[in-house]
Amino acid sequence: MHTPSATQLVNADLHCHSVVSDGTLTPEELAVRAKGNGVELWSLTDHDEIGGQHRARAAAHAAGLPYLTGTEISVTFASVTVHIVGLGFDPDHPALVQGLAQTRGGRGERAQEMSDQLAAVGIKGAYEGALKYVGNPELISRTHFARFLVETGVCHDTYEVFRRYLTEGKPGFVPHRWARLGDAVRWIREAGGMAVIAHPARYAHSPTAEYALFTEFVAHGGQGVEVVTGSHSPDEYGTYADMALEFGLMASRGSDFHSPKESHTDLGKLPPLPGKLSPVWHALADRIHWPN
Ligand code: AMP
Ligand code: MN
Ligand code: MN
Ligand code: MN
Repeated sequence: MHTPSATQLVNADLHCHSVVSDGTLTPEELAVRAKGNGVELWSLTDHDEIGGQHRARAAAHAAGLPYLTGTEISVTFASVTVHIVGLGFDPDHPALVQGLAQTRGGRGERAQEMSDQLAAVGIKGAYEGALKYVGNPELISRTHFARFLVETGVCHDTYEVFRRYLTEGKPGFVPHRWARLGDAVRWIREAGGMAVIAHPARYAHSPTAEYALFTEFVAHGGQGVEVVTGSHSPDEYGTYADMALEFGLMASRGSDFHSPKESHTDLGKLPPLPGKLSPVWHALADRIHWPN
């Protein structure tokens, strides 16, 4: 009889999105795809939302896949949006459930403002257009607007939409105050999980602000950083492997897969973590839900 062990797992994919946030596949479709791509440990990490966790875990087990609960919380740090992944928490814990509900709260109004701004540059009906892509009414996101702008031929792909319309300084960008770093880390920890800085190379921080982010994150009890992710280049794997060691953080790995049509990195299709790092899933061994 072979007892499963977290330390034997290599192909962990601990970051992706379903229709419960801004992905295009259901939790069930993702579980099957992850298994088919050779994933050995999976987590669904919808933005500011854990409504898909029970489905994801059941689907993972139906596919024979070990599962860790997950989410990706939107945070504002030094005027920049930062994402904090939470892994291995209790999805029914009140502090986390309430914190996420509060974080989702402003999205509807923000979306109306984005639509008004886009209308001012000649793109009409964007709110209604984006809504057609929304699977969860509380989770309207820039990604849904991006899909509408591709559908209507304004841009060729979602990357072009973000470049031309939906990022800082562009006509459809509405600044937003998300959760505070300390609160996001606390919600995850109180629910028994581990907090992880998502895709650190993607933030527009100065080197000083980035150092402050890592320092404060650790001070609040954050324990991990994504090193190998679909949104990092191989050079960036090296940079953040060094940062992980400098700050005593464990390392995570996840594709950040959203959609077969849009995402450059598929589930499970990433290089392994550099060997000198401690994988987050070793420390989360007792939080893994193993299939029967
Ligand atoms: P929101 O939470 O509404 O601000 O939307 C953020 C989401 O938009 C991210 O999780 C990504 O899925 C997507 N996104 C953000 N920036 C970009 C970008 N530059 N290119 C493509 N997708 C992006
Ligand atoms: Mn997203
Ligand atoms: Mn993210
Ligand atoms: Mn993500």
